[in-house]
Amino acid sequence: MSIIKIKFPDNSVKEYEKGITGYDIAESISPALAREVLSISVNGEIWDLTRPIVSDVSVKLHKWEDEEGKHTFWHSSAHLMAEALEKLYPGIKFGIGPPIEQGFYYDVELPGNQILTDADLVKVEEKMKELASNKEVYQRKEISKKEALDFFGQKGDEYKLELIDELEDGSISFYQLGEFTDLCRGPHLHDTSKIKAIKLLSLAGAYWRGDIRRKQLTRVYGITFPKQKMLDDFLEMLEQAKERDHRKIGKELELFTFSQKVGAGLPLWLPKGTLLRDKLESFLKEVQVRYGYEPVLSPHIGTKELYLTSGHYDKYGKDSFQPMKTPVEGEEFMLKPMNCPHHCEMYKSKPHSYKELPVRYAEFGTVYRYEQSGELHGLTRVRGFTQDDAHIFCRPDQLKDEFIKVIDIILYIFNALDFNDYIIQISLRDPNDKEKYIGSDENWEKSEKAIIEATREKGLDAITEIGEAAFYGPKLDFIVKDVLGRKWQLGTIQVDYNLPERFELEYIGADNQKHQPVMIHRAPFGSMERFVAILIEHTGGKFPLWLAPDQVVIIPVSEKFNDYAEKVLNFLNNYDIRTLIDLRNEKVGKKIRDNELKKIPFLLIVGEKEVELETVSVRKQGEGDQGSMSLKKFAEFLKNREKEELSFNE
Ligand SMILES: [Zn+2]
Ligand SMILES: [Zn+2]
Repeated sequence: MSIIKIKFPDNSVKEYEKGITGYDIAESISPALAREVLSISVNGEIWDLTRPIVSDVSVKLHKWEDEEGKHTFWHSSAHLMAEALEKLYPGIKFGIGPPIEQGFYYDVELPGNQILTDADLVKVEEKMKELASNKEVYQRKEISKKEALDFFGQKGDEYKLELIDELEDGSISFYQLGEFTDLCRGPHLHDTSKIKAIKLLSLAGAYWRGDIRRKQLTRVYGITFPKQKMLDDFLEMLEQAKERDHRKIGKELELFTFSQKVGAGLPLWLPKGTLLRDKLESFLKEVQVRYGYEPVLSPHIGTKELYLTSGHYDKYGKDSFQPMKTPVEGEEFMLKPMNCPHHCEMYKSKPHSYKELPVRYAEFGTVYRYEQSGELHGLTRVRGFTQDDAHIFCRPDQLKDEFIKVIDIILYIFNALDFNDYIIQISLRDPNDKEKYIGSDENWEKSEKAIIEATREKGLDAITEIGEAAFYGPKLDFIVKDVLGRKWQLGTIQVDYNLPERFELEYIGADNQKHQPVMIHRAPFGSMERFVAILIEHTGGKFPLWLAPDQVVIIPVSEKFNDYAEKVLNFLNNYDIRTLIDLRNEKVGKKIRDNELKKIPFLLIVGEKEVELETVSVRKQGEGDQGSMSLKKFAEFLKNREKEELSFNE
């Protein structure tokens, strides 16, 4: 028996017999670990726990707490669901069934034009539970391409045949679960007994391979857990998420609306939403000016040539809004999908010396991209949106400083908006696949180093992903977690060697020679639409005071006090405090309740006593009575609070 060396994440090395499995390794460490382990990474690739390891490798064991562990669990659950579906609907065809952020889905086509309903999902769930309790084993089988094609040919599943067609012979594996066989690379759990709680969540239509010209399949979403309590907590979180849905709150607070007549995916910002958005914009504009950005403006369209030069036509052309023709033969314009090309042309409007770099152009630029109607979702997936965009043109030796400055801006924003939980990801190129990327080795090394050092100097804990960089440069992403623990990708800082080359951008260096500047794309919010959506779901519509469209509502206890309410309003208006009066002829209790629902931060009750003492009775949203204050004291209290919310001392 030969011996292999296994290296663990803490760099310790242990010797095992050749052919040992992930499960055996876990058991050799502790029986408790063996009970919890779900899959194993072998040299960075995730494997089944039962697959024999035959050479010296590095490993990492994955439990439920790890992303990889959950993926293995949910991936395995997708097979279990497929098995149940096949039992209930013989002849069903399967597309793809991957794990996702929260659970898994499978795209299916039911036999004979049958349709799945929510009621059917309950039956499928029951079947899954029954099968799971049988402790079925996931069995891996390597198979030749011919055998694979024969199997699914006989079964008549054209979707799987299409997938197999694209695979290389010798790299194909099947997994058997009970009587169900699937084409799959793995990995899976050892058996189904770990799947203790199951919930099928929803149904949706999904075009095969995301192609609108191809058949629409039924997408079944589900989630599973190793414990019932985890499922209960998850469902509770879903309920809360429903309450915080930005589409619901956006409607209640009259922030934005949509009109089929205007067009799907084109948000209409109502007065209160516009105010909120303006506040966010001026907040960021102010910060950016402090950091040396220069605001610019560009039109919503550009010639097709512009996007051929930038390369965006290849990416957005055929699948997006089509070019507009003009009365001039052959002249075509496009709605802009990106602001960068316009900014490159701005940079080119005059020669630049190395001394005047960096040039930082900032624009709240509205762009248009065609999303399939099935993909549209409130403000998070739209067809027209405004990016808080900026492009920095700098020398390679300035990259690190620029990164630090952008990081500062992003952290300032997170603080002012109460996003305290975030993940930072650095995406680098794959050094073993250099042909995939443009730009010189030297530049890549410099920029990757700049990003890593910038995050280190800011004391940030970043995850590094090798091979995740864009072909034109490395990047840094900020992913925030909202109060429900959901992850949202926000600020991105992206280095770009491609556009400076395509647009032939240059500056004159200290050596009097022409050099190419490096370009950085960055958008801390991403887009105003998506950011407002995230902010609504994070705060449940209870915005920080500085951002609330209405900050104060005055509630006179009866008509008699309307004049005094008017006086308070004028007083607060002089302090730029956004105030309104509830003049409705309703009981005070009802007025308080209604205004609480509108999530206005402060309610001022005015009656006999207040008029006499020239005070207001202050109620804070969700926290009740705060006692009475003079008008001046209240105004100053609010102003200080706003200032505190926006101050960031690190
Ligand atoms: Zn699988
Ligand atoms: Zn850009």
